[in-house]
Amino acid sequence: MHFHTSQNSQSCLLASSVAVLQAEKRGSSTGVGVGELIWPSPSDGTPFWKKDFPSSGVSPEVFADVKDSDPKHIIHVTAEMAPIAKVGGLGDVVTGLARACLSRGHTVDIMLPFYECIQKQHIKDLTVITKYNSYHDGNWVPTTAYRGVVSGIPVIFIEPSNLFFKGQYVYGGSYNELEAYLFFSRACLEWMQVTSTQPDIIHVHEWQTGALPLLYWDIYHHLSLKKPRIVLTIHNMEHYGECSKEQLSKSGLEGSVYASIDKAVDDRTIGHNPERLSLLKGGIVYSNAVVYFGILNGIDITMWNPATDIFLPVKFNDQKPEGKKFCKYYVQRGLGLASEGTQDGNHVPDITYKAPLVVCITRLVPQKGLHLISHAIKHIEELGGQMVILGKASDVRVQTEFEGLAKLHNQGPCIRILLMFSDELSHMLYAAADMVLVPSIYEPCGLTQMIGMRYGAVPVVRKTGGLADTVFDMDDQSNHNKANGFVFEGIDEGSLNCALDRAFTYFREKPDEWNGIIKKVMEVDNSWNNTAGKYVELYHSI
Ligand code: ADP
Repeated sequence: MHFHTSQNSQSCLLASSVAVLQAEKRGSSTGVGVGELIWPSPSDGTPFWKKDFPSSGVSPEVFADVKDSDPKHIIHVTAEMAPIAKVGGLGDVVTGLARACLSRGHTVDIMLPFYECIQKQHIKDLTVITKYNSYHDGNWVPTTAYRGVVSGIPVIFIEPSNLFFKGQYVYGGSYNELEAYLFFSRACLEWMQVTSTQPDIIHVHEWQTGALPLLYWDIYHHLSLKKPRIVLTIHNMEHYGECSKEQLSKSGLEGSVYASIDKAVDDRTIGHNPERLSLLKGGIVYSNAVVYFGILNGIDITMWNPATDIFLPVKFNDQKPEGKKFCKYYVQRGLGLASEGTQDGNHVPDITYKAPLVVCITRLVPQKGLHLISHAIKHIEELGGQMVILGKASDVRVQTEFEGLAKLHNQGPCIRILLMFSDELSHMLYAAADMVLVPSIYEPCGLTQMIGMRYGAVPVVRKTGGLADTVFDMDDQSNHNKANGFVFEGIDEGSLNCALDRAFTYFREKPDEWNGIIKKVMEVDNSWNNTAGKYVELYHSI
């Protein structure tokens, strides 16, 4: 395998420098382009992360320095895509991998439910391409397929005429989610069938599209879809699509046929009454290849680029990191954190330099180490630091617990707990952060530590899964070359304290070393350039 990463990072750097320079031209005395900045405040009518941002206009051509021979046609069938329908890492991965393959010369489409909540302002050239019917529960449901382009990537949206995918959020609408994704899986194949679209690879993700391989081999392969091979990527095993035989039958497959150990029965339910099926297991059995996401990872460095990021008030890069301080001060002012020295003009007050800002951007689920996240609030406050949590809970008890914490802390000077999903704010927080905290109990891959690093935030992580593969402790003498953050092993509060204490000591007492870490983390290449090639090899092998 040969990667032209150095050439790539050069062109990246060039683009970054241009962006920073352009910002400078507009700017003034500070030399980092903050002349036109309007500083936000918590009393603003519209919060600073909700204002209108320019459209990103990113193109997949930017990183096209590796071209594969024998390009393939790949269709991703997925429940999420960043930035228009994103809940967690799945959305990032699909967009990043699709863009990487496009830029290597492959033809790539993404098929996505046309959620009512989808951020349509990010879709270019949205047009109806097909009106057709797709089967569900004894009926043929009138369905519309649209085509559009999202951040340079072609997307096909599937819109049924029933209630599926309606509501304010990607997940949790008032329709039956399992049945909706069964419908979607079939509707994607039906669309390929009626339009005679025969990709080389259908790439499905997670339980939501786990039934597609079954539907493909047992229905559509007997019709006209002969060419595609199926890849399944499992990003997170926690969710496996528990399904009854009757529910699976609604897709048009005979559910009872799949209730055996070599097909889709969930082995753990054997002997129970009733036994249950697992769509993820079915997907594993029926796919040509299965990838457990922990093996491969990458971030979309077009979307996550502090030198061009449309959401940042001031851009920066590893060569010109000054803008980061302004991003920090911007967020501090916007959230009312910079209590001392909030003043007019572009003077960044001492507190911005002195108080380390730790951010934690996460789905608030047990996997992410909830007790450690809530403990961090207390400890960071004791240490005189600042912390912002941007998190969304799906469980009512967790929501209530964090609402309680928010009530307790959000009026104070150093902690903000923001219980919502905001892609825009997440970009600004990564840019503002001195440290990004990821105390997960388990983490197949983890993107937030990688994104944080690209934005110059030093990771403080628990040593597990993908976090252990990407973050190496500063105080581990045996591995000093790779050292780029702070790592702890235990799941107890003391272990977390120790890592935070050490990170704060570096920040406050060893500024040169701290600046060295920032430069190092920003230079780490966690892009898809490193890993997309492995997927391409896999596509060829099947
Ligand atoms: P997971 O896929 O388990 O949620 P990852 O670390 O792989 O975790 O990916 C999380 C992605 O979702 C990152 O891009 C992160 O910035 C984003 N994210 C998580 N929670 C939020 C939130 N509340 N608001 C905005 N972005 C979020």
